[in-house]
Amino acid sequence: MKVLIIGSGGREHVLAWKISRNPEVKEIYCAPGNGGIAQIAQCVDIGVMDFEKQVAFAKEKQIDLTIVAMDDPLVGGAVDAFEAAGLKAFGPRANAAVLEGSKAFSKDLMKKYKIPTAGYENFDDPKEALQYLETAKFPIVLKADGLALGKGVLICQNLQEARDGVKTIMEDKQFGSAGNRLVIEEFMTGREVSVLSFVDGKTVKTMTSAQDHKRAMDGDQGLNTGGMGTFSPSPFYTKEVDEFCQKYIYQATVDAMAAEGRPFVGIIFFGLMLTEEGPKVLEYNARFGDPEAQVVLPRMKNDMIEVVEACMEGRLDQIDLQFEDNAAVCVVLASDGYPVKYEKGFPIHGLENFTDKDGYYVFHAGTKATPEGIVTNGGRVLGVTAKGADLKQARANAYEAVKWIDFENKYCRSDIGKAIDEV
Ligand code: AMP
Repeated sequence: MKVLIIGSGGREHVLAWKISRNPEVKEIYCAPGNGGIAQIAQCVDIGVMDFEKQVAFAKEKQIDLTIVAMDDPLVGGAVDAFEAAGLKAFGPRANAAVLEGSKAFSKDLMKKYKIPTAGYENFDDPKEALQYLETAKFPIVLKADGLALGKGVLICQNLQEARDGVKTIMEDKQFGSAGNRLVIEEFMTGREVSVLSFVDGKTVKTMTSAQDHKRAMDGDQGLNTGGMGTFSPSPFYTKEVDEFCQKYIYQATVDAMAAEGRPFVGIIFFGLMLTEEGPKVLEYNARFGDPEAQVVLPRMKNDMIEVVEACMEGRLDQIDLQFEDNAAVCVVLASDGYPVKYEKGFPIHGLENFTDKDGYYVFHAGTKATPEGIVTNGGRVLGVTAKGADLKQARANAYEAVKWIDFENKYCRSDIGKAIDEV
């Protein structure tokens, strides 16, 4: 079997690693990939939005299955392009990926189908948004409708901040056309949990829970990032919470998409807030989260290809999804200065200390293979993941493994998984 993965981050690396464990898989390609992925797959210099070249490549190499792992190509119709050429591709079609591609769409869907989420209004006109804010309660949340690298969400403490936010998103277009529409949402408080799931159009099977750390600095200070670390499972995601979400959120979402004529096949990432009134949806993503995938997939017992094929063939109900009864923690090693300004091109030392046999992994996010070795090539450089019998052990193991890696300007948060101590 030959598999092509579209994407280039830690998520794609862990996916490639998981897929490589299937003995039937003889060749893995990744477009465009990165320095770490290149060790287990052949990286191809084709952009994630260049569907024409991707399809031509898949035909030429006789690829059996393409996995579109990233949001932009999914929302842009990569899966549709492969299907139109008679090729198999895993991920939602564009008409279903809109669940992530438009926050206004997802809010309207949740309202129509009574899926618990924060109250909100959508706006196309900045004047109307400003007028609405005059009588709003603060803090309040402004969200650019479209994809904005996870950065299009502004939490505003008062009217002035909110006015500035409307200008930033809708007039200055800091997030480009993602800001043509604006969602203004009620501010929620509670603990955040991420739940990834496989979906085959009608059945949904959830994976073990995880918690991300989005802010750049310790104590959840600093700017929002693509994620600075994760742990799994979340001790706050109890059996009762799971039962509620299975009934009122997960299946309800999948049924709603089918009822709208947009059957969802692929991965739905449920971003949840556990509020005092019960769990509510913060956001949907139409793909694996990164770095959530780095603590979830190493604990998954099932073969990835088997589950993916079951999703594509509408028989996910026959799969018994199983996870190891242990824990994992991922600490992201970034370049100092991320997410604002940072340098690249520094050699990375110590990668050879990792062998996945003993439950330690290093997945590459922003690296490049050069003749001199692997060098830093992004803000988030590596994800160091370790398993342990429980969360505390996994955290101790992960921070131990962080010491094995060295590169100039290496930066990481020192408090990933601190919430574990509150249990
Ligand atoms: P999103 O991309 O919609 O998940 O938003 C990014 C982050 O902003 C979330 O992980 C939350 O920390 C925060 N956030 C988003 N929406 C809300 C909300 N309604 N209330 C409080 N925090 C929020």
